[in-house]
Parts: sequence; C-alpha cells; structure tokens
Amino acid sequence: PLVLGIETSCDETGIGIVRGTTLLANVIASSMDEHARYGGVVPEVAARAHLEELVPAIEAAVAESGIALSDLDAIAVTSGPGLAGALMVGVGAAKALALALDKPIYAVNHLVGHVGADVLRLDDRADSDSVPLDTVPLEAVPLDTVPLEYPTIALLVSGGHTSLLLVRDLTSDVELLGETIDDAAGEAFDKVARILGMPYPGGPHIDAAAATGDPRAIRFPRGLSRPKDMAQHRYDFSFSGLKTSVARWVEHREDEGVPVPVNDVAASFREAVVDILLTKAVAACHDYGVPRLLLGGGVIANARLRQVAIERTDAAGITLRIPPLSLCTDNGAMIAALGAQLIMNGHAPSTLDFGADSTLPVQHIQVAQIQAAAGG
Ligand code: ATP
Ligand code: MG
Ligand code: FE
Repeated sequence: PLVLGIETSCDETGIGIVRGTTLLANVIASSMDEHARYGGVVPEVAARAHLEELVPAIEAAVAESGIALSDLDAIAVTSGPGLAGALMVGVGAAKALALALDKPIYAVNHLVGHVGADVLRLDDRADSDSVPLDTVPLEAVPLDTVPLEYPTIALLVSGGHTSLLLVRDLTSDVELLGETIDDAAGEAFDKVARILGMPYPGGPHIDAAAATGDPRAIRFPRGLSRPKDMAQHRYDFSFSGLKTSVARWVEHREDEGVPVPVNDVAASFREAVVDILLTKAVAACHDYGVPRLLLGGGVIANARLRQVAIERTDAAGITLRIPPLSLCTDNGAMIAALGAQLIMNGHAPSTLDFGADSTLPVQHIQVAQIQAAAGG
C-alpha cells in the first residue's frame, strides 16, 4: 500500500511516503535551531514551526516520491506520545488530508514507529542525487536486505525517550520492558554539554570532544546497576545521578582553580551512558532468549554507542540492526511504514475521533481502531 506518514511529536516535522516497505520520500524539517537559545525544545515554538512547515513538507515529499496525493491508499499519523501541542498540529493536518482525499487514516504510536523504521528498504532512488533528504546511511551498520525478524529487543534512545522494548510483532504485540525513570539519554547529553559550556544540542559536541578523551579517566556512576536496582529496575535507566555527578566533578575542579579536562570528562561520561544502555539491552536479549537487537532514536548518531553495540552484540551472538540516521531521528517515513504494516496485516483504520495523547503507552500501537462488527 502507498502510505503518507505525518510525524510532529517533537521538534521534527516529518513527512514520509512509502510503498509497502519501500521508502519513496522522507522529508524532515527541524525546528532544532529555534530551540538552541533556550537549551531545550520549547513546546510552543515547536508547535508553531510544525504549522509553518507541514504543508511545504507534504508538497516536497509528494514531489520527491513522484506520486499524486490521489494515489495514496492511506494516511498515517503520530497520535502520541510527544508534546501535546506539537502532536495536535500533525493530527489536525492528517485528519484534514484524509477527509479531503477521502482516504483511511491510521493513528499510530511514535515509539513503535521508531521500530517500524527498520522494515524500510531504500529503493534505488534513495541512492540517487534526486533524493534531497539525508537518506544516506551513516557509515555504521547498513540497513540490510534481510527483513526484520521477531521477536526482537529494541532500544530507543533520543532526546525524549530511553526505552527498552520487547517486540513480538510490530503491529500487534509490543511490550515495554523498561524506560528511564528521570532524564532521557539525549537529554543527559544535552545537560552535560551545557555543564561543559557546549551549545545545544550537546550530543554531537560531547561525541566530538570524547573522541580525543580518555574514557577511563573518571569513573562516573552507571545508574540503576547495583544488585538491588537490577532486581527492581532491571531494564530501567536513570541518568540524572550521572549528570549531577559530572556537575559536581566539574565544580570541584573549578573551585580548586584546576583546569577541567573537558575531553576526558566527555569521554568518561559518554562511556558511562553507552555502557549502561548496552548492558541492559544485552541483558534483555539474554533474559528473553532473543538474539536480535534493534537500535533507534537520535542518540544512535553517537559513534561510541554504535561501536560498543557492534562489539557487545558480536560477542553475545546477537544480530544488531541500526537503521540509517535519517530513519533513526524522528521522521515521517517510519510512521508511514508502520501504517503500511498495519494495512498489510489486515488492521482496520482508525476512526476520525482520535486525539493527541502525550503519554500514549507503547503497547497501544494504533489508537481508535475501527472495531470489527460484532456477531457473525
Ligand atoms: P523524541 O521525540 O524521539 O524523543 P527528540 O527530538 O528529542 O525526539 P532526536 O531528534 O531523536 O530526539 O535526537 C536528538 C537527541 O539526540 C538530542 O538530545 C541530541 O543531543 C542527541 N544526539 C544527537 N547526536 C548525538 C551524538 N552524536 N551523541 C549523543 N547524543 C546525540
Ligand atoms: Mg528531534
Ligand atoms: Fe522519536
């Protein structure tokens, strides 16, 4: 099926068009720059940006894919979780489009969308210059041609989420194993970057500084990793203690008038985050006997995270999948892909009365699904 996906849960206005598992267009307009001076995403600013970017992004995606809107089989849209105001812009636009075109609509879960990104195959067009978007994979693990297999463990790490999922079936059975109990991993990168005087978003700056630092210089805490925590919060994460620990360490040096070895701090911090993320992800694979790990979310851009993920999954006999970065950060293609999967698996569309749910639980893969008629 030919599906257009709309994603507006955070600061990316994402419009994607897929045909089944083939990616035809992936247009992403980010309002990240507008949030920089506030040091984090400002919901009101994000919502306004979506309103301005949505129609141009839809036009760009349609032009890029070479399809006509009337050819579409369905619209898919992120209904949650995310910023309420930002979500509402996408939901409103999706409903308007569905009504105007008289097409069915699939209201889907953003987090499951991140997993859905992995079913996509980049067709020949994606390699050509005609595709404007950054659909070119990072040098990391290429999106291979082997279909995603189930069950799989998925680790989603972004500015707003740090979640470990057990995906038994993309369209019908996703379980939340654990998540962060305070800051998200990307948020921790951004906060520590701020402590070190780096601009927002800080992740890439920490990553760059860490490249020439010593990851063993400072032993920062691994949140929720003590035996007692591993019993109660085996798959949960905590990064606020780590952030505080970095802040204290830096303050102490400053108070003493000693220069702060920024690169060592960055490398040691990055090592702590990467270590705990992969320790818990690999533990989940082991506990559930699932030899597959899928990564998603913008923090996947982190060089050390990808490297350690490859090393540890290799050592444990786990198949690792990392979609290209343009499909890891928030995008509309993953939402379209999930919509297409729902259709291919026979799921009915959503009724038009769904809203934006900022805390939509991950097991709610699709909302407001039209129920099959009772009786027979
Ligand atoms: P979501 O709604 O999915 O939480 P988001 O907009 O908060 O979305 P993304 O856009 O997926 O998150 O990712 C942005 C985050 O990724 C930021 O916190 C940023 O600092 C972090 N990030 C980007 N590159 C790197 C990197 N190389 N290393 C570490 N973190 C990174
Ligand atoms: Mg973002
Ligand atoms: Fe996301």
